[in-house]
Amino acid sequence: MAGNTEPLSPRAKLAVTAGKAAAAVSRAAGRGSGSVIGGKVALKLDPDLLGRLAQHLDVVLVSATNGKTTTTRLIAEALRASGPVVSNALGANMPAGITSALAGGSDAKYGVIEVDEKYLAGVARDVTPKAIALLNLSRDQLDRAAETRMLAEKWREGLSGTKAVVIANADDPLVVWAASSCPNVVWVAAGQEWKDDAWSCPACGGVMQRPGDDWFCGECGFRRPAPSWALSGDHVLDPHGSAWPIHLQLPGRANRANAATSAAVAAVFGVPPQVALERMYQVQAVAGRYDVVSFQGRDLRLLLAKNPAGWLETFSLIDPPPTPVILSVNARGADGTDTSWLWDVDYTRLAGHPIVVIGDRRLDLAVRLEVAGLDFRVCETVDEAVQLSPPGRIELIANYTAFQDVRRRVGN
Ligand SMILES: [Zn+2]
Repeated sequence: MAGNTEPLSPRAKLAVTAGKAAAAVSRAAGRGSGSVIGGKVALKLDPDLLGRLAQHLDVVLVSATNGKTTTTRLIAEALRASGPVVSNALGANMPAGITSALAGGSDAKYGVIEVDEKYLAGVARDVTPKAIALLNLSRDQLDRAAETRMLAEKWREGLSGTKAVVIANADDPLVVWAASSCPNVVWVAAGQEWKDDAWSCPACGGVMQRPGDDWFCGECGFRRPAPSWALSGDHVLDPHGSAWPIHLQLPGRANRANAATSAAVAAVFGVPPQVALERMYQVQAVAGRYDVVSFQGRDLRLLLAKNPAGWLETFSLIDPPPTPVILSVNARGADGTDTSWLWDVDYTRLAGHPIVVIGDRRLDLAVRLEVAGLDFRVCETVDEAVQLSPPGRIELIANYTAFQDVRRRVGN
């Protein structure tokens, strides 16, 4: 399809123009970038617009509970080696935001699109992607475990028989189960640190066996597929067994896994792993996920941990003790209003760090840390927490709305 320059219909053009106008009004009114409102107006005028905008693009969709924004950035950077890319790099990942992003990319050859998990099947129907990357599935809003299984079911049904090459994580049983309705799957051993949402077999409900890095269901025989790509330490192993070094400016094992998946995706588009991985080095901070800011004369690294799996991944990438750590937890709508998930996260991994606790639910977190036997202090504000932290760069880990609160305060 790439290179097809068939012009948009008058109706589609009108929808794009109206969408841009609405976005401009929204921006002028001080409501952010305006891209979502613009997309909503455009889709209302022309419900098929998303499919039409994607018509001339080779599209890859990226979905997961964690890491989709970063992986979208990595894939976009890799594919730029072979042509112009349009992407919803700012993370507006529902149909309106995606429409708006694609409307700005008429000269692009590739569309690299992050999709909210709930919308994946629908967007895949609309845009006929060439590839779909599925990274992981775990509880997102922190109090909603049962929804994870339903989401996997939705993927499985919605992607069944897709013509896209599906690049899927062989180490996440829910992802494997969702992807196994697809005829053409490239399995990547990308790892899975958070296993608590995958102890029961998604196929039959039986108990999952997990010897070493392997997994299988003792009851129905559902098991880990043999991967053709793998993350191995600081390297990506390609299907020929060659090892390619990963150099990223982004921290942590989770991001190396995202790079491995991105290399497998790039290969589907003809970009070799060496070229893809070299280009990924260009990706620096990912807005709203990892960021180093200066505040009160101190360096703060801001780390978003949206869900239990995210907290665990984050603990694995912070600097070792005695690096000071500030934790902030809220429980507003977007976070999930129940904080019982705190008991699912192994906070003993923070032993040895000086810890300060802030956020709306600092007392819930304090109880949790007390039981974990950790030393910590409780503060009202981030200002106070920074003043109390001993010298050195501070690692500040927060859940969704707490992260936004901190960013507003530290002015970034
Ligand atoms: Zn089973």
